[in-house]
Amino acid sequence: MISVFGSANMDLVAYVSTAPRRGETVTGRAFRAVPGGKGANQAIAVARAGAGAAFLGAVGADEFGPVLREALAGAGVDVTRLRTVPGPSGIAHIVVDGDGGNSIIVIPGANGTVTGPDAADLAAIRRSDALLLQLELPMDAVVAAATQAEVPVVLTPAPARELPGELLAAVGLLIPNEHEAAALTGLADPQESLAALLDLVPEVVITLGAAGAIYGSRSGERARVPAPPVRAVDTTAAGDTFAGALAVARAEGRPHRDALRFATAAAALSVQREGAGPSMPARAEIEATLAA
Ligand code: ADP
Repeated sequence: MISVFGSANMDLVAYVSTAPRRGETVTGRAFRAVPGGKGANQAIAVARAGAGAAFLGAVGADEFGPVLREALAGAGVDVTRLRTVPGPSGIAHIVVDGDGGNSIIVIPGANGTVTGPDAADLAAIRRSDALLLQLELPMDAVVAAATQAEVPVVLTPAPARELPGELLAAVGLLIPNEHEAAALTGLADPQESLAALLDLVPEVVITLGAAGAIYGSRSGERARVPAPPVRAVDTTAAGDTFAGALAVARAEGRPHRDALRFATAAAALSVQREGAGPSMPARAEIEATLAA
């Protein structure tokens, strides 16, 4: 079982040719409301990749709360430790323009009310093979979960924020994308970034979009795995799909290179479909891609 302590957001996505400037009104092509949030996405990715997943976090007492809860439960994620709190759910207001570029406003809502794990949350976390964290919850809550987990902690440092030393000391595996890696280290070259990050945490995977991912450990192991060549239609949640699948493969004891292959196969499947949760591949599809 893998626990995810993180955010759940309703993604409200408007598709336009050109994003409006201030004071301007434009007519869009489509609108979609889809469950998202990095935490919920990772939990669904874990469940779909074939492991038990538990999601710890909060949704609001609004019309989106039950939708977010059902999206997780419907994907097979254990939502026993998902709270419903007064006030609105987390929202991501997303504008996707004609080039596939986006601008996003996140309003934390219920996610912003999450504090550190309580005793029952900790009991659930400590029964897990790993704890997955991201940075869409208040930093104090993330630090409290990481430092008390007593199981391997995997952090996706997104959205990019400065990482307190206390958090880094508790992280076993860090999974930044190349932009987050550059923001954390000030180094543009992913290989140099990887080396610098290994001074902070024992293991690092940097995801490189269509170029795949690189792995390094403090004990000197290195691996590079290309992404399967695919036609990407929507890369939303590619990183979350990757992180969830990687955690599953590692919990199964796969060697580093195999685990990276499993994660890049899962993420490549997800970018070929629109949306976050619904785009995540089932285990059989991941296995079929690996066997091809
Ligand atoms: P994020 O989604 O967090 O920005 P990346 O863009 O690095 O992170 O993507 C995460 C992973 O998703 C990559 O390591 C890769 O395995 C997969 N991926 C992303 N974009 C593509 C693509 N165009 N083709 C194939 N795989 C992709």
